[in-house]
Amino acid sequence: MDGTADGGQDGRRTETGGSGEAAGVRHFWERLGIPGLVDVHTHFMPERVLRKVWEYFDTNGPLIGGLEWPITYRKAESERAALLREFGVRAFTSMLYPHKPRMAAWLNDWAADFARRTPDCLHTATLFPEPGVETYVREAVEAGARVFKAHVQVGDYDPADELLRPAWGLLAEAGIPVVIHCGSGPAPGKHTGPEPVARVLARHPRLRLVVAHLGMPEYEEFLDLAERYDQVRLDTTMAFTDFTEGFMPFPRHALPRCAALGDRILLGSDFPNIPYPYLHQLRALERLGLGEEWLRAVCHDNAAQLFALRSA
Ligand SMILES: [Zn+2]
Repeated sequence: MDGTADGGQDGRRTETGGSGEAAGVRHFWERLGIPGLVDVHTHFMPERVLRKVWEYFDTNGPLIGGLEWPITYRKAESERAALLREFGVRAFTSMLYPHKPRMAAWLNDWAADFARRTPDCLHTATLFPEPGVETYVREAVEAGARVFKAHVQVGDYDPADELLRPAWGLLAEAGIPVVIHCGSGPAPGKHTGPEPVARVLARHPRLRLVVAHLGMPEYEEFLDLAERYDQVRLDTTMAFTDFTEGFMPFPRHALPRCAALGDRILLGSDFPNIPYPYLHQLRALERLGLGEEWLRAVCHDNAAQLFALRSA
């Protein structure tokens, strides 16, 4: 699984995880004149949870649209973190999420410890509509959480659920970004799509939602929300790649809207759970032709500002 080349374009011949790929990634951002990358959408989670996630990807199950989805970076945790450093990713996240009640607080404990031993990881936390959510969200914020992750599809909940209301209010007030997987890609859920998120934003217009995967496949509806609410952002995770373009292509006519929202689009990759090399995500952004200024903002500056990273 590791170290294979799939022979595509855009650097996909580069051996994954090898120094060749790292050199390619570094060359990408050095050329732009930025001090590295900030990747707001990477997955680190307790080892047995991650194994389960990988096993799920191996089954081509319905949550991933029944797609063939080989995990490119199936490596030990320390190797995955080391690889991001080799790539020159200055800051990343440990996106994790519960699929049932009474799991989020435990995940948050793990993530706090991971952030303590991984200084370049932005301390990440998660939540679920359940009694006590406001308490553990507050505790996570007090413990220094910098970003939250919500997964509407896997969690199978309505983000506008009454139980979440105080938690959203607290996060909006604290100005803490929430990366939310709320689009209906790669497969829809009962509560995916723009409508439930629109209800959340109607109540919490200052909430800093970061719509994962650029809202795929409801790209335009989520761009609408970003245009309407100036604290809404989008991450690029898997968008524009050959893989995604093959089944949920981004509508080309909407590209000028991505250009106009260039200060609110953030690099995300889904590392390590991606079916292609990391460099391919970067090249997929570059080939949009939105220019170097846009790439600098998306790949580094927007997130550096959002998370107040010290200039390198
Ligand atoms: Zn993800």
